[in-house]
Amino acid sequence: MENRITSLFNIKYPIIQAGMIWASGWRLASAVSNAGGLGIIGAGSMYPDVLKYHVQQCKQATDKPFGVNLPLLYPDIDKLVQIILEEKVPIVFTSAGNPKTWTSTLKAAGIIVVHVVSSTAFALKSEAAGVDAVVAEGFEAGGHNGREETTTLVLIPGVTAQVKIPVIAAGGIATGKAMAAAFALGAEGVQVGSRFVATPEASSHLNFKQAVVNAKEGDTMVGLKKLTPVRLLKNAFYEAVHTAENNGADIETLKTLLGRARAKAGMFEGDLEEGELEIGQVSSLITEIKPAGEVVEEIWQEFQTTVKKFRDFVD
Ligand code: NDP
Repeated sequence: MENRITSLFNIKYPIIQAGMIWASGWRLASAVSNAGGLGIIGAGSMYPDVLKYHVQQCKQATDKPFGVNLPLLYPDIDKLVQIILEEKVPIVFTSAGNPKTWTSTLKAAGIIVVHVVSSTAFALKSEAAGVDAVVAEGFEAGGHNGREETTTLVLIPGVTAQVKIPVIAAGGIATGKAMAAAFALGAEGVQVGSRFVATPEASSHLNFKQAVVNAKEGDTMVGLKKLTPVRLLKNAFYEAVHTAENNGADIETLKTLLGRARAKAGMFEGDLEEGELEIGQVSSLITEIKPAGEVVEEIWQEFQTTVKKFRDFVD
């Protein structure tokens, strides 16, 4: 199968692994790329020298295309961009910022640029900035989330109706059935995050991976809405945020409550009570830790079976 996304990235399956802080290092990215999807290194939790190491290791581990996710609110963004240019990273997914800021610099170096958006307005802004594709990420997604709370089912047809560039659907997608649904809505690729956290290749702490596997429906909620809305697995930290927000906490109070490096404590060091545990709603459908390559293959097989079922029904 070939479409605009497989051609754009030169990959076998239009399945993209999301760049997630404290989860997506070179091991995960290269495993996904080797399996025929697109692996992405999540630079948001990496100091510049750490990113450089991961890019170099990834090049050793795969001869397939891979990318780097760059959250634009990162403190040392210009240093990360420099490394991306020096190391000739072929694909960059930017997120959490203005697509105008870095797209032309990256494009001038021959890099394929994709921006992550949570609304049609931002998709149009990204297209105008010259990106090659957008990831439209619905409210089901883990981590940083759109303020308008638009769900994937509503977001994807809205965005695909308005932009000409290809759209990659994200948020709530961990299976081939969900991929088929996203394609029915007009997406040409899917970006999958949470499912890849529960793999041996993810750099996340085993406690966190196990918590993802154990998560049930309703176990994630969006908090810190006055700061940056973020979908979290419920724990003692989330409950403290929830209580503070119910009591009308202002931005400063929430900042103090969050403190520093809570995401690292939760997802990388395995503190399941006081850490920040960023994961999507779809964690309730994830029941085991399994290799990333198997995840890619399973999603692809289930996508094909699902589409065939629809075809048989129509025939
Ligand atoms: P904090 O300010 O609480 O802490 C910074 C954390 O980032 C520390 O753990 C630190 O590691 C690490 N870090 C990596 N590089 C740097 C750097 N250059 N300067 C300072 N710290 C750095 O931030 P968060 O943990 O909440 O978020 C970190 C980053 O992840 C941000 O850039 C943010 O944009 C991004 N992010 C992206 C999300 C997404 O969904 N795409 C979700 C959440 C965050 P150490 O402790 O070893 O010093």
